[in-house]
Amino acid sequence: MTSSPRTIETIITPEPVVEGAGVRLKRSLGTRTLNYLDPFLLLDHFASDDPRDYEAGFPLHPHRGIETVTYVLRGEVHHKDTLGNSGSIGAGDVQWMTAGRGIMHEEMPQVRPEGIAGFQLWVNLPAKLKMTKPRYQDIRSNTIPEIKKANGARIRVMSGTVDGVSGPVSEIAADPTYLDVFVPAHASFIHPIERGHTAFAYVFDGEARFGNRDQADDTTISAPTLAVLGDGDAVQVTTGKTSVRFLLVSGKPLHEPIARYGPFVMNTQKEIEQTLIELRQGTFVTT
Ligand code: FE
Repeated sequence: MTSSPRTIETIITPEPVVEGAGVRLKRSLGTRTLNYLDPFLLLDHFASDDPRDYEAGFPLHPHRGIETVTYVLRGEVHHKDTLGNSGSIGAGDVQWMTAGRGIMHEEMPQVRPEGIAGFQLWVNLPAKLKMTKPRYQDIRSNTIPEIKKANGARIRVMSGTVDGVSGPVSEIAADPTYLDVFVPAHASFIHPIERGHTAFAYVFDGEARFGNRDQADDTTISAPTLAVLGDGDAVQVTTGKTSVRFLLVSGKPLHEPIARYGPFVMNTQKEIEQTLIELRQGTFVTT
């Protein structure tokens, strides 16, 4: 068994935010409450059946110095950039985009009967990779392994490893784990997380206790809530009458200074100013 389960360090209630051209989101990282959880810069949760909440989408906008990870649960998001890349992210799919030195793109949720639901996570890039070549990893739902446990728990593995099975996302500097975990009622789930790595759980359905159930220092959290997990070598989740579904995300902190301006995240203010100059001069996207 584990020697040191992680307990909840901070509980964050997502804030309603209007982003893009008028998309309603719940934001739990990248706010005044928690601006940066090294290496994670932002977590947005979108979920609506009303087209007015999402149809305006995210028209053409730039990114530099980060990675954006889009995970669609329901509906479809069309994507297009000025380098000529385009595609669609459907239910169960993940797009892991390394913006690197710069991309200019649009992300447009499609109006469909099932509405839209999903997440966007921003992962910081280390100084040595901020100006790397842009890269897309488009992961189709049917290539994401799903681990089924004897107690009925189900884990989709986007990145990281569960029971020896690794997710398809590869070669990411933060060495991230990104799991979509379902645990049925009256069951438990334990997952090892390397000591020293940053970790959080985002509960988006049901409720569960996180922490060490043997020492009564666990805490129940209900959807929608983000729990920042303190250090330890595993996360331990226990359900009661209700099932739970959550994202479990961890990664290696960069311990670097950040200069953040909207969709640009660099190490220094000077690099931000340089980015804005390139944007004005039309030299931002160079390939
Ligand atoms: Fe974007």
